[in-house]
Amino acid sequence: MTDVTTAPAPKPGILDIAPYVGGKSVLAGIAEPMKLSSNENALGSGPKARAAYEAALKSIHLYPDGRAGKLRAAVADHHGLEPDRLIFGNGSDEVFALLNQTYLSPGDNIVTGEYGFLAYRISALGCEAQVKLAPEPGYKAEVDALLAQVDERTKIVYVSNPSNPTGSYNSGEEIRRLHEALPPHILLVVDEAYAEFVVESDWETALPLAREAANIIVTRTFSKIHGLGGLRVGFGYAPLAVAEAVDRIRLPFNVSVPGLDAATAAIADEAHQTASRELVQTWRPRLTQAIRGFGFEVLPSAGNFILVLFRDGKRTAAAANDYLNSKGIIVRAVGGYGIHDGLRITVGTEDQNRAVIDALSEFAAT
Ligand SMILES: *Cc1c(COP(=O)(O)O)cnc(C)c1O
Repeated sequence: MTDVTTAPAPKPGILDIAPYVGGKSVLAGIAEPMKLSSNENALGSGPKARAAYEAALKSIHLYPDGRAGKLRAAVADHHGLEPDRLIFGNGSDEVFALLNQTYLSPGDNIVTGEYGFLAYRISALGCEAQVKLAPEPGYKAEVDALLAQVDERTKIVYVSNPSNPTGSYNSGEEIRRLHEALPPHILLVVDEAYAEFVVESDWETALPLAREAANIIVTRTFSKIHGLGGLRVGFGYAPLAVAEAVDRIRLPFNVSVPGLDAATAAIADEAHQTASRELVQTWRPRLTQAIRGFGFEVLPSAGNFILVLFRDGKRTAAAANDYLNSKGIIVRAVGGYGIHDGLRITVGTEDQNRAVIDALSEFAAT
């Protein structure tokens, strides 16, 4: 019998964290569903990354290079960054977790937007920190609303730019204004997981701003444009002092041998990056226009996905989700973000996008 008074108890707050529910990947009775639920690369991984992954097979009995030397040099060279200021993680998710563990004491807080990416929050709660959410009435992080949440216990402000699941973005000017208004002891994390898909001319990467600042971290991932979500590789570009502090708690072999090798090769695969970007930039507006034509709201998106809102009072997101599932299409319900009338749909291949358009056209007629 379990005695509740003597059973091992998780530390305060752990059981208050809502379990993360990822994008579905199976549909009962359908052998090969179209998985458009996790913003993965519709073209898959590139040939150079796959060749490097296969070549890594001869080395999987060896521990990886804990310093990620080759990948570090490749990323630094590609983006023109100082190698020592890079932090590599098991996905950029691990970079967020490492930052939280390094800077958050119990009772501290992080600030992010109401619809900010859940990964920032999970590990912050695990540090017994609070999560303060700035309202996003326009489905977009607002500088003043973020600043209004900052208090004396705030240690980190997280902005995803572009943002998931809304697809909105902040201009370079907005990011600069946010940074200027923040006290210098607060870290500003700018998560640029979708940077490569942006076309808007007032968007800017925060990498040059981060180079000059003592409190900005920019993160990037190999999971989206490079199509390596299953290998878990991401990085942050941080002030040297931050990178060195984080490195004290980073476990020595946090990125695997195949992950390091495939990511290094992916950086050199310009053709795959270009094809991936062009697919999204071609189909994102077509999907948006078509679905708007059926009477549903589609938020403007700067990422490789769109967020469709079902709020005509007649057809719900849940019913649309069921209908898409019945056609073998898996998309992402975003109730976990508090958006109960929305479905997030990854931009897929041409065939997949046409299937989404056809299904929603039929659904609109129900
Ligand atoms: C997909 C995504 C990432 C990438 O996470 P990884 O752990 O690198 O796979 C980061 N931020 C946002 C907002 C994302 O949607």
